[in-house]
Amino acid sequence: MILPLLQLPDTLNYIGVFLTLECNLGCSYCINDPQQAGRREALFPIKAKSLRNCLTPTEWAQALNRIPYHRDLPITLQGGEPMLYWKGQGLGAILSETPHYFDLLTNFALKPEVFASNLNGQQRKLQRDAPYPSIRVSYHAEEMNRVWQGNGFAELVNRCEMLRNYGFCVSPAKSESDVGIYMVAHPQNQMIADMESIFVGRVPFETKEFLGIHEGKLHGHYLYPFSTDLIASSIHPNTLSCECRTTELLLDPLGFVWGCHFYLYQSWAEGGPRREFAELEAQGFRYSECGSRIFANQGLMPIGHLLDPDFAMSDLEIFRHCHHYGRCIGCDTKVKNDRFQSYYDHGVAHTSVKIRNIQMPVSLYDKIEEIERSRQFFSHSFPGKDHATD
Ligand code: SF4
Ligand code: SF4
Repeated sequence: MILPLLQLPDTLNYIGVFLTLECNLGCSYCINDPQQAGRREALFPIKAKSLRNCLTPTEWAQALNRIPYHRDLPITLQGGEPMLYWKGQGLGAILSETPHYFDLLTNFALKPEVFASNLNGQQRKLQRDAPYPSIRVSYHAEEMNRVWQGNGFAELVNRCEMLRNYGFCVSPAKSESDVGIYMVAHPQNQMIADMESIFVGRVPFETKEFLGIHEGKLHGHYLYPFSTDLIASSIHPNTLSCECRTTELLLDPLGFVWGCHFYLYQSWAEGGPRREFAELEAQGFRYSECGSRIFANQGLMPIGHLLDPDFAMSDLEIFRHCHHYGRCIGCDTKVKNDRFQSYYDHGVAHTSVKIRNIQMPVSLYDKIEEIERSRQFFSHSFPGKDHATD
């Protein structure tokens, strides 16, 4: 069945497809862990084989072909480890059946020759003309040194450089290179001199801001006070209510559309909406008609499903009630640029979600650094009251 094309709003900033949440590594700080508690192996209890845990490449192609081709708005494939999706054969199958350019966030789990051969000759779909590399490889020192016998960084740089043999441009200049390496600037992750001598002149390497709490200190700059650390830093005993909407199209491995990273990760930490997916599939994916019934007793409900013929991008623009404020994932509420460099060029802070009517207890006001600026986000209907909801 050919699904209706979606109308992409100009404000859409990111399209992220979590192809699989399975991963070959077990980083102590896993980006998929809502609690950042270093428990990757127990994180996604995807056990029962009788239920599906991902869409097929053909289903993904059908779903992604609803998105109008746009050379400046790539679809980002991520995970888990997306190279492992569909026994490694999934990326090439999706790239072959869609017109889009893709970005890939990966830990380079496969050898370059295997990865390249799995692409089915579709390399150019990962070669977007952009100021930064389309293939962004993350470096995880502890795990990669374990897997590659103490040579984690050297092996990673070699793998990136070898992509040159398979049709990719590899250059030390990030605006020219199709591939680059990124490392989260966790206080324990220091750039060491050894590393510099390995990557310089070969592959772009950058650090990314660490978002989270380390030794009691919150790292990162967030628009909404206590959005990520209210509970983790024991600032308040309960999460708060608010209204929230997203500016991103976030898709989980089964094609469900989620309103933020917390909802997506947490739903999979609870086993994933796999039973609900089976019910929805039996109803022709008509989430708009059946979603409320199918998810009736679930705390976490998606916004829609990309295979639902009635799914529309305007569904993302609705502010929805949320009772989990305070457990938001940093990448959703941190201040950043939109894809038009809004913050750097015009001083306009962008966040992946927009939040309003936060029922912030007045007792916390004096702990908020920029209270005057923050008041606009708070609910004024219940002044002075705590609204513990969980
Ligand atoms: S590579 Fe990424 S997804 Fe895999 S365990 Fe490490 S942080 Fe998590
Ligand atoms: S308030 Fe936080 S947890 Fe709730 S929907 Fe928004 S980003 Fe997600």
